[in-house]
Amino acid sequence: MPRVLVLPGDGIGPEVTAEAVAVLRQIAPDVDTEDALVGGCAIDAEGAPVSDETVRRARETGLVLLGAVGGPKWDPLPPPKRPERGLLRLRKELDLYANLRPAAVIPALEDASPLRPECVTGVDLLVVRELTGGIYYGEPRGRQDRDGQRRALNTMVYDEDEVRRIARLAFRAARDRRKRLTNIHKANVLEVCAFWNEIVEEVAPDFPDVELEHLLVDAASMHLLREAARFDVVLCPNLFGDILSDEAAMITGSLGMLPSASIGDEGRGLFEPVHGSAPDIAGSDQANPLAAILSVAMLLEYGLQRLEEASRVREAVGRFLEDGYRTSDLASISGGRVVGTREAGKLVREALG
Ligand code: NAD
Repeated sequence: MPRVLVLPGDGIGPEVTAEAVAVLRQIAPDVDTEDALVGGCAIDAEGAPVSDETVRRARETGLVLLGAVGGPKWDPLPPPKRPERGLLRLRKELDLYANLRPAAVIPALEDASPLRPECVTGVDLLVVRELTGGIYYGEPRGRQDRDGQRRALNTMVYDEDEVRRIARLAFRAARDRRKRLTNIHKANVLEVCAFWNEIVEEVAPDFPDVELEHLLVDAASMHLLREAARFDVVLCPNLFGDILSDEAAMITGSLGMLPSASIGDEGRGLFEPVHGSAPDIAGSDQANPLAAILSVAMLLEYGLQRLEEASRVREAVGRFLEDGYRTSDLASISGGRVVGTREAGKLVREALG
């Protein structure tokens, strides 16, 4: 029986996660869930942002559903002791090397986008970002003193195995979607990108049903604003993915709607909303639970390979919005009948049938 470790975390984390878990129980009653602490609440109760025992259980289940971490209470702590270190440790210990961030414009929310409707209609893309390599980790790095002149450097470096495994994951994702993969690069000036493209080309023949294109990162950044509907799966090295996934997210216009997944091999994954713990609205039943519920859809799709159940969850969220319901964050940009966190969760579950 599949097991999921649920880490609700801090602030609105427990509120949105409760609704997400209720959706998971309804759509997949055979999946077992168990709870543990992460973030500030884990620091208070267990002395660390994630305990060794929680890491062990995360490794054992392989699947983690997380809420959010952090809050003003823990802001004064030094960086190694802060709540978000719990997240970083989990990603590292589970070797989650791919970050998946979908950006889909739900028709009922087109007016929430800061872009004109003709630029956002039909947008449904997935950014696949390499998460554990590239310039964020490359050596040498740091500051130097050379002949009395200060300087600083970072290194963008990729091994072929690192590129191959993320490329295969992106091709597989494209195969389950609209079969189009856009590889983002800057090969006109960076050797590491020319090498990355070469490896992607080597993987391509294993996926003859997926159409592959290479696109310069600067051009991609413009296309995202003008015609994002042309993209299906977008494969990026760590640095470009960090930037483009936030740009793509803004197309949808609402933080409370964005899920994400960090994936490793052998079905391991951590699924969480993109938003933080929103201390300003915590405990007031105002949080939008849809990003957490859509994270359950990602868990079903990428963690459990249950594509049909994943679609049903997304359809239920779409129906909730088409029926005119909005949590207060969405109502402020697109009107509608305002409901609280718990009622929103209940209505999505009713739409699930
Ligand atoms: P935030 O995402 O928590 O909030 C930004 C704004 O968006 C706030 O006004 C908040 O009320 C609103 N918001 C966020 N999620 C919402 C939701 N589901 N429904 C309705 N409104 C929502 O970002 P922040 O304020 O910069 O950070 C607050 C805390 O969260 C900090 O401690 C930060 O370190 C932490 N954080 C955690 C994560 C994570 O757990 N992955 C990510 C980002 C920030």
